[in-house]
Amino acid sequence: MTAQSLASILQKWESVIGLEVHAQLATESKMFCRCQRTYGEPPNSRTCPVCLGYPGVLPVLNEQAVEFALRLGQAVGCTVRSLSRFARKNYFYPDLPKGYQISQYEEPLCEGGSVSFYMEDGTSKTVGITRIHLEEDAGKAIHGLEDESYIDFNRCGTPLVEIVSEPDIRSPQEARRYLERLKQTLEYTGVSEADMEKGHLRCDANISVRPRGREEFGTRTEMKNLNSFRGVMRGLTYEIERQVGILEQGGEVEQCTLTWDESAGETHLLRTKEEAQDYRYFPEPDLVPLIIDPAHVEEIRAGLPELPAALEARFTEKYGLRFEDIETLTSDRELAAYYEAVVKGGVTPQETAQWVRGEVLRVLNEEQQKIGEFPMPPEALAELVQLVSEGTINRNTGKSVFDKMLQERLSAGAIVERDELAQVSDSSALEETVRQVLEGLPEELERYRKGETKLQGFFMGQVMRATRGKGDPQVVKDLLQRLLDEN
Ligand code: ADP
Ligand code: MG
Ligand code: ZN
Repeated sequence: MTAQSLASILQKWESVIGLEVHAQLATESKMFCRCQRTYGEPPNSRTCPVCLGYPGVLPVLNEQAVEFALRLGQAVGCTVRSLSRFARKNYFYPDLPKGYQISQYEEPLCEGGSVSFYMEDGTSKTVGITRIHLEEDAGKAIHGLEDESYIDFNRCGTPLVEIVSEPDIRSPQEARRYLERLKQTLEYTGVSEADMEKGHLRCDANISVRPRGREEFGTRTEMKNLNSFRGVMRGLTYEIERQVGILEQGGEVEQCTLTWDESAGETHLLRTKEEAQDYRYFPEPDLVPLIIDPAHVEEIRAGLPELPAALEARFTEKYGLRFEDIETLTSDRELAAYYEAVVKGGVTPQETAQWVRGEVLRVLNEEQQKIGEFPMPPEALAELVQLVSEGTINRNTGKSVFDKMLQERLSAGAIVERDELAQVSDSSALEETVRQVLEGLPEELERYRKGETKLQGFFMGQVMRATRGKGDPQVVKDLLQRLLDEN
């Protein structure tokens, strides 16, 4: 299904979406034991009696996990419960050795709050947060090519927050932007590495549709396994189209749980309402209630770094950049800091934005690097941008100097001097070159005189070649025109 057919469906129908996002917390160790929180270690090498659920062991709460959950809660304006409780969510699956997951149910750590973001057309949108609670992850089942399956318990007991949104999202695009903002907030606050490829951020969605103008919500379905931005867009679009298709034919949407199959681009039915799981939640008897001092919450709030929305507002005000520039530059907090450091080097915000978005991001993409690994210090880039903006070298030369700086770890000034790249804009020096070039081309000059004026571009090219690209194009052009007119 195409974006266009979705757009036409959404003229008559409105989709209503709520997201449940699981984010892995960036703690050193697991939620209730001392095992290291890891990724990509040999299977079952990071386990202990606690996370393997041996009888008789007791969980001990990871304080850092609570700190991170509180930090996220403060970043999105939640109210923190001074007393919250852990609960057992009981179900049987081979990746869950205890037979239950420790989560929070009736009294979650954080409630209320909201996430705001901008849509492509510049309109702003706010999505309410229902709750944020702590829970532990399950292990990982790996299904082999034959009928065999394996279990890796390394992920068992990894600390997660579950972030439940209000049903405030109205389109797959809004869902995507919401998720992007959440990911950005998790990264800015250091609460999660939020790397979707490593499964740090996993998303389930509740989806319903209603005729435009109707207040009442339609019957919703739940879709699991939307684990990439692309998956969120495609899965939601697929399900909205399916539900509208049923309703337009006079049918009824059945409440059910689906799972998104990214490689097949379709959903599979997991269970219907009749088969709904009963998790038999009850308070976790092995953990005391979690008591939070309001003064501590205030401390955390005061210690928050500048958040994405505030940074965007500051970039707009201070640097007067365009929306696209701001969006790209603030997508990553470290990239924003790099950008600001280059501007501090004395070059204009606009020029700097072009270089960072164009050249720096190009190299980061090519090299699959993060800005923290980028070897060119901001002062070095500032020097290069300065040389271009004052006209010492032109933009194209600047780009090749940029590449040489990375290869040779030399300063822009040193490369320009060594390779004699400084642009020649001194017209007396250039005039001599132009004369010589024209003298060497008597035939073309003759044709030009007879009216073949389009040869001007050819002459221009020849002169630029003679200057090895260093001629200031505007000065060359003026000189050339003058000398041709004299002829
Ligand atoms: P459950 O207990 O079954 O998980 P919740 O009431 O906690 O149900 O809601 C789960 C999610 O479903 C929330 O993100 C909420 O915003 C969303 N939701 C609730 N009703 C609807 C609806 N009619 N259409 C779409 N999403 C909904
Ligand atoms: Mg739920
Ligand atoms: Zn363990």
